[in-house]
Amino acid sequence: MEPIEMKKENAHCNAILLHYGELALKGDNRHLFEARLMRNITTALHEKSACAVRRLPGRIWIDFAESPIPEMAVTCITRVFGVANVAPALRVDPDLEKIRQAVALLVEGDSFASFAIRTRRGEKTFPMNSVEVNCDIGRFVGEMTQARVDLDRPEREIAIEILDRHAFVSTRRFAGPGGLPVGCAGKVACLISGGIDSPVAAWRMMKRGCSVIYLHFFSAPFTSRASVEKVVDLVEQLSIGIKGVNLIVIPFGEIQKEIVTKTPEEVRILLYRRLMVRIAEVIAREEGCEALVTGEVLSQVASQTLSNLAAIESVATMPVLRPLLGMDKQEIVDEAKRIGTFQTACEPHDDCCSFLVPTHPATKMSIEKLDRMESMLDVARLVQKGITEKEVHALRH
Ligand code: ATP
Ligand code: MG
Repeated sequence: MEPIEMKKENAHCNAILLHYGELALKGDNRHLFEARLMRNITTALHEKSACAVRRLPGRIWIDFAESPIPEMAVTCITRVFGVANVAPALRVDPDLEKIRQAVALLVEGDSFASFAIRTRRGEKTFPMNSVEVNCDIGRFVGEMTQARVDLDRPEREIAIEILDRHAFVSTRRFAGPGGLPVGCAGKVACLISGGIDSPVAAWRMMKRGCSVIYLHFFSAPFTSRASVEKVVDLVEQLSIGIKGVNLIVIPFGEIQKEIVTKTPEEVRILLYRRLMVRIAEVIAREEGCEALVTGEVLSQVASQTLSNLAAIESVATMPVLRPLLGMDKQEIVDEAKRIGTFQTACEPHDDCCSFLVPTHPATKMSIEKLDRMESMLDVARLVQKGITEKEVHALRH
């Protein structure tokens, strides 16, 4: 996790004020979403800082009392799903003189040619309205710095939020991921391969509020466990600041071997996938998941044509979600770089699906034909084998 560099003025900050985006629209359920967000923030900050996470009207306030904000706190919070933006702030009592002093502390030593004051007054008992505060503090900052006011494109924005018997002054804000807090939209099981796509698919589901567990099939005993180590790294990267994540690995080599010996070459990959779906579903149900998630992208490879996706999915009884279905490879690569999984995903690994990969996989398979091919296998026994041999893999944090 790349730390956000804290500027000198933030040494004076004793609070973080955060805004949430879509959460604000959630009507009657809003307090449940807020409570979940506050819990997730507490988890993300765990052991890094002594603070209290408090609710204000439309905002969350992380209160460090009299202490400065610890080094990594802002960085940690910018990764929490549901957070729209994060502002290190100096909290003072809602009194004009105290607000002036707070502004002076934050602005001192900072250099900018233009600025704007943006006041939001949630506390209507404050004696001045927001325009009056903007004018007063604007004059004060102008005299102090000689900078000019520019309301359209200011070099520095100074935000003053007067809320519930507190005033918060901030000069910088950082974007969070947006979306909804993890855990407020149910639980899903992501099939993670060690490639570029599936970690991005998991990230997108977390961003929409899902808790994610991860299932990885590997070709033991025919390949090394290197692919598992790579998946562990990816899952850890995706789960920074999130508790209770599970990675379950399923030895798949013997099952693949049986498919290879009993069925024609062109359908192998599709049968591997069907078996993965069948095994994954049983585990997902045991774990309380309501859907499977894959990194499949329409027409990316032969196994992902529309008819092949249908032929794989026909054995599923829970929804198979494909959040990347309509994306281009370059868009997925850009997103993987942004979320920090790209580099690990590019390391070479033994892909379990390249295990005895056919030279000419079928691109247009019907459900009925694949059913016929699959009936050459003892499906129930193979599914049972996968479930019996699964291992829960410990994560390092
Ligand atoms: P990725 O799609 O993750 O970049 P990939 O392109 O090598 O990897 P595909 O062959 O495109 O993988 O597989 C499509 C999807 O099937 C993956 O996104 C993943 O959800 C699932 N999948 C493939 N192989 C595995 C595996 N070994 N374990 C778990 N899921 C897998
Ligand atoms: Mg792929």
